[in-house]
Amino acid sequence: MTNSYRIAVIAGDGIGTEVMPEGLRALQAASEAFGFELDTTEFDWSSANYYSRHGQMLPDDWFDTLRTFDAIFFGAVGWPDVVPDHVSLWGSLLQFRRHFDQYVNLRPVKLLAGVPSPLAGRAPGDIDFLVVRENTEGEYSSVGGIMFEGTERETVIQETVMTRTGVDRVLRYAFELAQSREAKHLTSATKSNGIAITMPYWDGRVAAMAADYPDVRVDKFHIDILTANFVMHPDWFDVVVASNLFGDILSDLGPACTGTIGVAPSANINPDRRFPSLFEPVHGSAPDIAGRGIANPVGQIWCGAMMLDHLGEHAAAAAVQDAFEAVLARGDSSVVTPDVGGSGTTQTLGQAIAAAIAAP
Ligand code: ATP
Ligand code: MG
Repeated sequence: MTNSYRIAVIAGDGIGTEVMPEGLRALQAASEAFGFELDTTEFDWSSANYYSRHGQMLPDDWFDTLRTFDAIFFGAVGWPDVVPDHVSLWGSLLQFRRHFDQYVNLRPVKLLAGVPSPLAGRAPGDIDFLVVRENTEGEYSSVGGIMFEGTERETVIQETVMTRTGVDRVLRYAFELAQSREAKHLTSATKSNGIAITMPYWDGRVAAMAADYPDVRVDKFHIDILTANFVMHPDWFDVVVASNLFGDILSDLGPACTGTIGVAPSANINPDRRFPSLFEPVHGSAPDIAGRGIANPVGQIWCGAMMLDHLGEHAAAAAVQDAFEAVLARGDSSVVTPDVGGSGTTQTLGQAIAAAIAAP
């Protein structure tokens, strides 16, 4: 029997609508080469169209509409002329993350041949790690408030919330991921020398779980020196796990160390598979280059590879990854986009990658 997957496609705004067709082209090529089916349904839930007409980012029944899909393939939302960025973000992506309990945010940090890195002297192969960010609790709670407002005693408090369930489930994911990789090395981000209640708790849960994974080497760094080490010693890392705030910072810093934002992917994962996971490039809708056909589609295509991996199509995922890595490494300037030094277009790069996808 042929495996078949139902994919919800939300291209969104700006360059989201330009890179999405290339993401789908790569997935189509993979499905033909590897013999599975993708049943895609497109939703025009963008700021520029949907919000303009309805005054909200999503229809009221979005949850029931999306929950039966195997995954969500997402471009980018946001069109500041129509709706402020925080409204489009809160009205769309953050609803998905929250309601579909996507408690892991996963971002690969990999230096690719053909992509200029701001870190001098680093060769492809030196940097290849994953940032696992806790995506639902921690520092981004809304517990707190303002007291004595407007007086000299004005006092503002915002609590960090860590639950044992919330901490353990993201750590479990990170340990499993580390164990599945060759290096079997997990780094935990902490700040237990300064944040004296929640961070020692986090450290304690890491230490407790490490007992279940004797073959995984575990270390920890305080967040301040860890960010420095991302820049100075990116070759030290394999899987890095962090709370919501620290993970937010690290998951932007990591991809920034490896080159253009146009190639960086991310996944919002519900590892329990009770709900669909969502795969989106790190970049936004990029109004400054939208409509010119020059956006790099690799971030979207890489998301497609992560989605295939999540769906269990591991060989196809690897083939998509090999294809975009090979095309970028070849660096044919008439094919690759301007952000990586070429004069090609979103389409020329997307077509070259799709053509390079083959079953071994
Ligand atoms: P967000 O929407 O997440 O707030 P933003 O709107 O500030 O982000 P982006 O849309 O990600 O930022 O764009 C940041 C910069 O990176 C812009 O100058 C944009 O042109 C460039 N950029 C983003 N994505 C790509 C891409 N796929 N290819 C080439 N350049 C890109
Ligand atoms: Mg934006």
